[in-house]
Amino acid sequence: MADTELSTQTGGYDVDMFVDTPDYDLICTICQGVLRCPVRAACHHIFCKKCILQWLKRQETCPCCRKPINPSLIFVMFKLSKSIGRMKIKCKNEIRGCAETFPLSEQYCHTMSCLYELIQCPYQGCRAQLLRRDLDTHARHCEHWRQPCHMGCGTILSHSTQAQHNCYKQLRQEYEARQRNHRAIATALQRKMKRMQSTMAHMKRQIGLICEGLEVMDEQPEGEEDDPGENSSSDTRNINC
Ligand SMILES: [Zn+2]
Ligand SMILES: [Zn+2]
Ligand SMILES: [Zn+2]
Ligand SMILES: [Zn+2]
Ligand SMILES: [Zn+2]
Repeated sequence: MADTELSTQTGGYDVDMFVDTPDYDLICTICQGVLRCPVRAACHHIFCKKCILQWLKRQETCPCCRKPINPSLIFVMFKLSKSIGRMKIKCKNEIRGCAETFPLSEQYCHTMSCLYELIQCPYQGCRAQLLRRDLDTHARHCEHWRQPCHMGCGTILSHSTQAQHNCYKQLRQEYEARQRNHRAIATALQRKMKRMQSTMAHMKRQIGLICEGLEVMDEQPEGEEDDPGENSSSDTRNINC
């Protein structure tokens, strides 16, 4: 499938896609299609650009008149390309029911909006392939259909939830859930604070005990200092003696 698409891409346009049978002059001798990006060789023969470049890789002579062709001396025919672009074509979805005709140059634009183009359902997870014109009908039943509530509450709705969806109820539930969450956070904070308070009280007690211990130690060296004082005084006394 991809291979055939590629080969038609490289060659000219299929003659059958045109509303009126294209002029013989507009047919590429190499691919037998209508010239796509026409170029002229020095011998004045005209081909699709890709067709002749591919041909010249094998032999550097004109496929029509066998005269030598210099690959750097072929020229794109912009005016001819433009007038081919103005030629009316039929939609490629004609077999599916599209009756529209339009200039060749508008083919891409038409395909992007053609109601008979086979497209994939745009809702994520849906594998349905359908004609673009059937998308609305399909979307009404597609189980993968999702859309945010049009009232703007932010809820993503499916067909099954859309019927019983109530914005007020939804917002109320969300509000209550948020409140529950806030209350839970407050309770946890209070618990943490109580734990910290009891730890602090415990530390205070410990510090008090340490201070008391230090005071006891402070008193003892003072008593000991008295003794050397007495000794020294006795020493002085000794010296005095
Ligand atoms: Zn061609
Ligand atoms: Zn030639
Ligand atoms: Zn169409
Ligand atoms: Zn679908
Ligand atoms: Zn809503």
